[in-house]
Amino acid sequence: MNTKKVATLQGRIRRIKEKILAIDEMRPGSLSEQFNVCGNPNCRCKDPDHPKKHGPYYQISYTRKGKSKTEFVRKEMVAGVKRELKNYQKFKKLVDEWIDLSIEVGKLSRQGYTKK
Ligand SMILES: [Zn+2]
Repeated sequence: MNTKKVATLQGRIRRIKEKILAIDEMRPGSLSEQFNVCGNPNCRCKDPDHPKKHGPYYQISYTRKGKSKTEFVRKEMVAGVKRELKNYQKFKKLVDEWIDLSIEVGKLSRQGYTKK
């Protein structure tokens, strides 16, 4: 069993846990911008030469427990939502690294008990 290597990997896992603890609000999904036309035939959004659509409107789409959802996001909330999306990506990446390291630690540890 490669004790030194295992200790190194465990150290990396510890640092990942610390980083995860530092993450606050998060949410999965992706944010999109939309521009719409309305029902008023005389509106600027229907101008034949220079139509100017309404918007942007923001919405977030995500899947939780097998269900896809879309929610509107108010303009003043966009910055916060972007931050939460970034946090979620960070969280996923860290968990992924943790899993990889953990698999490696498991393999190295078990080598100590395996007779070849
Ligand atoms: Zn319009």
